[in-house]
Amino acid sequence: MTEEALDVMVVGSCMTDLVSQAPRLPKAGETIHGHKFFIGFGGKGANQCIQAARLGAKTAMVCKVGKDFFGDNYIQNFKDNGVHTDFVGRTSDAATGAASIVVNDAGENAIVIVAGANMLLGGEELRGALPALSQAKVLVCQLEISPQTSLQALRMAQENKVKTIFNPAPAITDLDADFYKASDVFCCNESEAELLTGSSVANVEEAHQAGQELLERGCGSVIITLGPQGCVVVKAQGSTSKHVQTPAVATVDTTGAGDSFIGALAFYTAHYPTMPLEEMARRANQVAGVSVQAVGTQTSYPFKKDLPAELF
Ligand code: ATP
Repeated sequence: MTEEALDVMVVGSCMTDLVSQAPRLPKAGETIHGHKFFIGFGGKGANQCIQAARLGAKTAMVCKVGKDFFGDNYIQNFKDNGVHTDFVGRTSDAATGAASIVVNDAGENAIVIVAGANMLLGGEELRGALPALSQAKVLVCQLEISPQTSLQALRMAQENKVKTIFNPAPAITDLDADFYKASDVFCCNESEAELLTGSSVANVEEAHQAGQELLERGCGSVIITLGPQGCVVVKAQGSTSKHVQTPAVATVDTTGAGDSFIGALAFYTAHYPTMPLEEMARRANQVAGVSVQAVGTQTSYPFKKDLPAELF
């Protein structure tokens, strides 16, 4: 890797989505014919990293894949998107993370996720990435790898004064309290906020309250994303809580919108460190708003060239 400092480092997951479309979901023991199959690149960590890279951030991914075909393919996908792969570990002990997805004609799905190699990402890879991490502008973590690995990465970043964005997804009820203290920005969706606070988060007012409660656990700021309603930004500095609305768009597929938002937030945090968080959230809303207007996860993420100049 070149010596130039990274904008964004992501420590997290990558998963290969194996998607079959069929008239209905099969019953136990049954074999049915589907009408379409495709392979997609997913995993929350990789999605966020690729969105940040497509906006122009210098990014690196710290993750683990198997020594298999899907691992080779995923590394190529990172390269195709300009993501540095020096910290992508490989293992023979597990397969590359995969999600086997069946979608029926009513749009319902049945999914089996095997995290595989993602769960073997640990201290060894983090130590290898530390020299680059300590020089990076932003670290982003989620919970699709071992939570201890995410927390260790966040702590390493904090010790080196690297800004941290933590996305507690998929949410767990017994989240270690240290995650809050290790998060400069704690960014989750409504259902994650609901699980973490134990209170309903079904509207903007409840999101303000949940954001305040999460903030009091020790993070610098909280963002709760609200789908077509944009997000709520709650900041310790100045004790403010603001609803940042997003323009209505013709929605086609919202899969991966949350990851697009976080990847964009990481890009803005790295490139415009003095920009108010509400303005970063407004712009991230617009980037994620583009992603919901096309099918798929990474396939729907916009590049800088596709977006209005006022977002840069
Ligand atoms: P997903 O699980 O589908 O990846 P999420 O539940 O984590 O998404 P959301 O809160 O649904 O996250 O969406 C994240 C952001 O994406 C929102 O804050 C908003 O900016 C944008 N977004 C999502 N859905 C829509 C929509 N229907 N119209 C416009 N923007 C949207």
